Formats: sequence, structure tokens, C-alpha cells
Amino acid sequence: MNKKIVIAIDGFSSCGKSSFAKLIAQKLGYLYIDSGAMYRAVTLGFIQKSLIVYGEIKKDGLPQKIQQFDVGFSYNSSKKEYETTLNGVVVEEQIRTIGVANYVSIVSAIPEVRELMVELQRKLGKDKGIVMDGRDIGTVVFPNAELKIFMTADSKIRADRRTKELMLKGQIANFAEILANIEERDRLDQAREVSPLRKADDAIVLDNSHMTINEQMAWVEKLIEERIM
Ligand code: C5P
Repeated sequence: MNKKIVIAIDGFSSCGKSSFAKLIAQKLGYLYIDSGAMYRAVTLGFIQKSLIVYGEIKKDGLPQKIQQFDVGFSYNSSKKEYETTLNGVVVEEQIRTIGVANYVSIVSAIPEVRELMVELQRKLGKDKGIVMDGRDIGTVVFPNAELKIFMTADSKIRADRRTKELMLKGQIANFAEILANIEERDRLDQAREVSPLRKADDAIVLDNSHMTINEQMAWVEKLIEERIM
């Protein structure tokens, strides 16, 4: 029987990490966890509780306030996938808005937020058989993951894909605004002190600027094969 492994997928914003990770998980019958969704859910909590004022985080009593945000996942049987919840409420739609995207990098740079999320992520992966995508999965969350992939793509191509994706969902999408948000998130994610975005030494780079999802799947299948045997 094949052995169960941990697959860590990190990389820049809007590289298609989630779609790629989801497909891999489906193919292997693994659990898929979108760690970005967890940071987005906490950010939504910060916005709802008015903890962000003029782009600044209110610092007083922060550790206790963070404990109030119970992030989890609930299974949607008609969609056959897990949806992100905040204090028991499905927030999958709300966390994908530009309002949340604009603040998620500052919220995810808070050490107490990261500590809590990493603890939860490790619990989810304790039995292996998991594909998790994010920014620090191969470096911090699962440094011993059997397969680590670092995804990148040209920022304009990423912004174009994201714009189309939002428009398809009927949301307002402005290419210039999305490009600025992606580039700013790249900058903040790489520059932050705690768990900055960087390629793990043993991660394999995948630049998918000019690759279809099928080409990416063909590329990864060989790597998985080598590790599960
Ligand atoms: O993956 P996604 O773009 O949805 O992630 C949203 C944000 O959450 C990122 O821009 C980053 O600031 C943060 N994040 C993180 N660590 C992770 C996953 C996401 O800091 N493991």
C-alpha cells in the first residue's frame, strides 16, 4: 500500500495554489486545507469587531481578543468540499472580498495570530494524508513534509486570472486595484518578521505563468509517485 504523505504548497498570492492543491488532494483522497482562508477568516473577525482602524490594528488586549476567533472548517456535502467557518458561521464568500484581502497581510503578520493558526494547522496534519497551501507551510508548519512545492508566476498574469475569477463570481473586479493588492501582499509577505514567505531549501519551484492546470498536474504526478512508493 502507498504511504500517506504531507504535501506543502507555498508561494506568492494568486498563483493558483488553492486550485492546484485541491486537485492533488482530490486525486489522492487527501484532506485539503487552505491556510490562507484561515488568516482571511481571522481578518474578517478583526474587521467585524472593528479592531482595524484607519489601516492600523488596535493593539490593546489583542491576545485575548484573538482567542475569540474560532476558525474551523465544515463539510459541504453538495459541493463535496470543506468551507471555512468563523465562530461556527460559514464565511467562504466574505473572506474572498477585496476588503479582507486589503488587510490580511497585516493581520497575518501578528505573532499571536500565527501561533494560533500554526497550532491548528499542525493538528489537522497530524495523521498525514494532507495537502496544505500557504506561505510558510514548508518552512514552518510542516518542515518535514515529504513534498514541498514553491509556486510563482508573473504578477500581471496573476492579477489577470484573479480579475476574471472575481468577475465570473459576479463581484466587482478592477485589474489595476487587484494588481496593486497582489504586489503589495507579495512585498508584505516577504518582508514580515514572523514566518516570511520564502522558498524552503528543499522545495521544488513551479512557475506556472504559462502552464495549464493539466500541465501542472502532469508535472506533479511524477514527484508524488516517487514519494508515496
Ligand atoms: O493564500 P491567500 O492569498 O488566500 O492568503 C491570504 C493572505 O494570508 C496572504 O497574503 C498572507 O498574508 C496570509 N497567509 C500567511 N500564511 C499562510 C497563508 C496565508 O501569512 N500560510
